[in-house]
Amino acid sequence: MINLEDIEINKFQLNGLLNHHEKQGFKYLLENGVFCATCNDYCKYSVSNYKLYLDRFNDIKVSGNCSLCNGKVEKVMEFGDNESFFRKAVQFRNKMAALVESE
Ligand SMILES: [Zn+2]
Repeated sequence: MINLEDIEINKFQLNGLLNHHEKQGFKYLLENGVFCATCNDYCKYSVSNYKLYLDRFNDIKVSGNCSLCNGKVEKVMEFGDNESFFRKAVQFRNKMAALVESE
């Protein structure tokens, strides 16, 4: 049974989910693609204090603060469209579910 809720993941877990190419994409989006409504611009100084989630579409959601104004920012990175990433994400969810069951 796959539990399709947002689950928080750490950077180590993210690393395991992304291949080399996707890691570069993630880094690029984090540094250039997160929009801050307060600054009305993309976060030029990246995002701080962020948390990572695997959302219910198996996309990566980043939730943190704009490094310039400290406003809340959120960005969904659509990795779930990628078949190999999606497969890894499902395996990851199954592993996490198995860990919870064995507690
Ligand atoms: Zn800002």
